[in-house]
Amino acid sequence: MKYISTRGAAPVLTFDQAMMTGLARDGGLYVPETIPAMTQTDIAALAGLGYEETAFRVMRPFIGDCFTDQEFQDIIARAYAGFGHAARAPLVQLGPNHFLLELFHGPTLAFKDFAMQLIGQLFQAALQRQGERVTIVGATSGDTGSAAIEAFRGLEGVDVFILFPDGRVSEVQRRQMTTPVETNVHALALAGDFDDCQARVKDMFNDFDFRDSVRLAGVNSINWARVLAQVVYYFSAATSLGAPHRPVSFTVPTGNFGDIFAGYVARRMGLPIERLVIATNQNDILHRALKTGRYQTEGVRPSISPSMDIQVSSNFERALFDAYGRDGAAVAQLMQELRQTGGFRISQGAIDVLRETFLSGRASEDETRATIAGAFAATGEILCPHTAVGVNVAERHLGPVPMITLATAHPAKFPDAVEAAIGLRPALPPRMADLFVRPERVTRVANDLAGIESLVRERIAN
Ligand SMILES: *Cc1c(COP(=O)(O)O)cnc(C)c1O
Repeated sequence: MKYISTRGAAPVLTFDQAMMTGLARDGGLYVPETIPAMTQTDIAALAGLGYEETAFRVMRPFIGDCFTDQEFQDIIARAYAGFGHAARAPLVQLGPNHFLLELFHGPTLAFKDFAMQLIGQLFQAALQRQGERVTIVGATSGDTGSAAIEAFRGLEGVDVFILFPDGRVSEVQRRQMTTPVETNVHALALAGDFDDCQARVKDMFNDFDFRDSVRLAGVNSINWARVLAQVVYYFSAATSLGAPHRPVSFTVPTGNFGDIFAGYVARRMGLPIERLVIATNQNDILHRALKTGRYQTEGVRPSISPSMDIQVSSNFERALFDAYGRDGAAVAQLMQELRQTGGFRISQGAIDVLRETFLSGRASEDETRATIAGAFAATGEILCPHTAVGVNVAERHLGPVPMITLATAHPAKFPDAVEAAIGLRPALPPRMADLFVRPERVTRVANDLAGIESLVRERIAN
């Protein structure tokens, strides 16, 4: 299995190389050269299997010969052993033909643990074999960073630097990043918003001298291995509800487009997904793009679902690459226009292709709060604000095909927003109850590339 860049001008890599590299050297994102298909029989055989076995069968064709079957099975087992639910990704019913896929039973209570715990184990296995060290840098709007730190803390051969927007993550998210005691963990509070954090990380990757000298590796949602890990729960959920004999649809609370792109990959592999519904908060660039054909950035407006507060959705580039018939030069052109003018028009042909798979909707702040209150009154289920955005949009797309909305975080990660909606403060699971009394360790940094790079060099020299 080979991996190619969405901009068509970077080296072709193997799975482990693409995982270690993150962002391609032409600025693009790595995608598999071909998407392996699963037959109806292969999919039917997943019914009733445990999550780990499903994960092995779904991901195996993408790995090539980077790991033996036994190694890969052991990696998967270690990745999900720390989850607080035996089913890993349980389904609960929310209403007639509407289901919630609970993806918040991992160590940091958000779906990002599914990918990050796996990638931590994959990195460790690959680095041990090569006898190498790497420096991981990532940008986070809250959940990625805590999941990355939780996955890599204390691992051999890895330093982790996470940039988060100072003052714009929830207290639980911040504490999950600043309280680990391991010295290979570095939480950096940047004076700026999430897009600034993401831009500085991209700059570090585009500074090839720096990138090579510190052996930079990325684990942001553009990392192909993360997308791959997320493909698995689309299969486990759909087969639980009768796929391949019965199609399902999914609604996905969307920011950087990584989670929903994994659903797109599952669909391309042959999983009968009728529609993938993009749910955005008031930062609705993707909803507007799908509706109007114009992808146009606006400033970020902070919301009660902060992990979806983005204006540029990095993984959307992967969907564009396919919609433009895998024309890397065309994608590179669009991305240049985006950088220079803040937007671009999607061609008619490409928008038609995207609309065959994706629907979209947007939930305002008031609608999000009303949905948290409504779901609690109707079912007793407490939704996190991100999940509530999804449920709100899904409710406008219910029909004969079962709808599965992804519950992306535990409500206790966002207690203020939840309390404002229902008057109750959701409790943290007992295994993390001491989070608020652990000492914090954080470094404040300016929104300045040179300063951040010298800090990284200094820290890894020690
Ligand atoms: C990251 C995140 C999202 C958005 O996922 P993307 O893959 O960036 O689209 C939604 N909800 C929560 C809770 C998240 O942490």
